Amino acid sequence: MHATPTETHKARQQHRCSWCWQFIETGETYQRYRFYDGGEAGTVKLHPECHDVMQEEAADEGGWLEWTPGQHRPEPSNAEVSGLSTRPPGYRTGANEGEKT
Ligand SMILES: [Zn+2]
Repeated sequence: MHATPTETHKARQQHRCSWCWQFIETGETYQRYRFYDGGEAGTVKLHPECHDVMQEEAADEGGWLEWTPGQHRPEPSNAEVSGLSTRPPGYRTGANEGEKT
C-alpha cells in the first residue's frame, strides 16, 4: 500500500467524503490523496475534520489505518435520502427476514 501526500483542494463540484460519506459541497475545502494497493488505485477525498480523525486513529494504530470508504457514515447507504432509514442496530438482511430470535 502506498499513498501520496495529502493535498488540500477546494471543491469545484460536489464530492462525497470517503470517511463519513456525507457530501463535500462546492466551494468547501477538502483533503485529497491517492493510494495504490497492488493493482488498485483510488482517490480519497475527505472533509478536513474527517482527515484529522483519520490521522488520529491511524496514529493510535501505529501509523497506518485500514478502513473502508464510507464505513464511518452514520447511516447505511442512505445519505441521499437521510431520515428514511429505520433499520435498527443488528438488523440482518437476507433470508431470515421476519424471523425472531
Ligand atoms: Zn467527512
